[in-house]
Amino acid sequence: MAAMFKVRNPRNGEYDYEFARSSPADIALQSAKLRAQSRVWAEMSPKARADLLLRWAEALKAERQNLIDALVVDTGRRRESELEVDSAIGNIMRWAARAPALLEEPATRESVVKPMTLTAASVPVGLVAVISPWNFPLLLALIDTVPALAAGCPVMVKPSEVTPRFVEPLRRAINAVPELSNVLHVVQGGPDTGAAMIDNADAVCFTGSVATGRMIAKHCAERLIACFLELGGKDAAIVLEGVDVSRAARSIAWGGNANAGQSCLSVERVFVERLIYAAFTAALAAECNALKLAYPRVDDGVIGPLTAERQAVTIRSQLDDAYARGAKALAGSNVEELGGGLWCKPVVLVDVTPDMKIMTEETFGPVLPVMPFDTIDEAIALANGTEFGLSGAVFGPRERAIEVAKQMHGGAISINDAALTAIVHDGEKQAFKNSGLGPSRMGDTSITRFRRKRVFIENATLQHDPWWFPAQG
Ligand code: NAD
Repeated sequence: MAAMFKVRNPRNGEYDYEFARSSPADIALQSAKLRAQSRVWAEMSPKARADLLLRWAEALKAERQNLIDALVVDTGRRRESELEVDSAIGNIMRWAARAPALLEEPATRESVVKPMTLTAASVPVGLVAVISPWNFPLLLALIDTVPALAAGCPVMVKPSEVTPRFVEPLRRAINAVPELSNVLHVVQGGPDTGAAMIDNADAVCFTGSVATGRMIAKHCAERLIACFLELGGKDAAIVLEGVDVSRAARSIAWGGNANAGQSCLSVERVFVERLIYAAFTAALAAECNALKLAYPRVDDGVIGPLTAERQAVTIRSQLDDAYARGAKALAGSNVEELGGGLWCKPVVLVDVTPDMKIMTEETFGPVLPVMPFDTIDEAIALANGTEFGLSGAVFGPRERAIEVAKQMHGGAISINDAALTAIVHDGEKQAFKNSGLGPSRMGDTSITRFRRKRVFIENATLQHDPWWFPAQG
């Protein structure tokens, strides 16, 4: 009998859902089944695979409302659930359109070593395991899955055990395209299930915390298989004098509080040029104070509950540490329990110092600590003074903003806007420092990273090579 996982509802704290965990034996069996289909999938033309992906997109559209309804229960929020489903379907359609051109093999060419010719080719890397987190359960389960499938790889995907309800409509949409269901399998479970996937995969795409990412990297290293890691962040926004203060405040209020701050790319630290510090903090506090909790009904406001109970513990401990060390709130205060759920009204903190936990550790909640700076060098040092390097933002007069952006550590820097990689997925970017490892999951590389390159080197002249042994004897 399979072990059951009990799942908490983030709006009321009740354990009202359960699912059967995939055991290591299930994973081995399913992996063998996927491998048995891998040749058919790999040898299909990119256009034929793309057409099947488009049929899947249609099946997901037919399940759109069911997916949204399930995600609303999984996460407690509605607006982001709608955006998430539409974005996931849009990604499939985008990759289906782009993949055939990206996977075209180049023409044979002459090598610099005459008279050889080079014919480049590539093959899929094999069975890809995708392990994903709970903050955008559908979007992040599919963000690597779709390009891997388009590239010709079978995929086993494990969404987070914290938010599993959307798996039922997702599976229905996959099963509506039988050729796809042969090469795409959704499994459920926690760390043990994830580890069993790594034991059976040829490459691993992991999205999650730095701590788990390190474990995954070690596990993949033992097996000498590729691992692509997309990990945590502590994004900074730098606000320069000369900016439209109210626009910057509105943008950062979104960038720090969308999905109740539960995004890797959330703005989690704000550095503001001292001349506009007072005006900016007042504007940001006004923006954040106006954001209402989606409570008691899901459509009552735009800030949903904290989805994962353990994250609420982290947020509370960081805020307690900040208050104990002199920080003051201009908006919000701390995590609170309402109707059995855990909630946090957007918090704007001032009088913070760079050594507070709220400034050094990933918060993953709706908290915006704001510090003033006097010089650009100081702002850059503050922004870059972290173990993370996911993304960032800078607001200011264009030329100065671009100069600052170039000096910030991070794979994607939004200029005069915040958290743009939540919406814009077609620019290649890699994580800096502890925020990840591997080629870009965004832009064209997202597909080509799932191909192993090879080359056929031909001596078409059939002449003897000058480096062969001279005729002996
Ligand atoms: P997590 O690391 O706790 O878990 C992520 C996934 O890994 C889950 O599916 C979990 O079951 C699985 N897992 C845990 N231990 C494992 C193990 N030993 N072997 C195999 N699988 C294992 O992360 P989380 O709490 O679900 O998500 C929040 C984190 O994800 C945050 O740090 C956030 O910044 C990060 N994140 C990063 C990105 C990005 O693109 N960089 C996007 C979203 C979230």
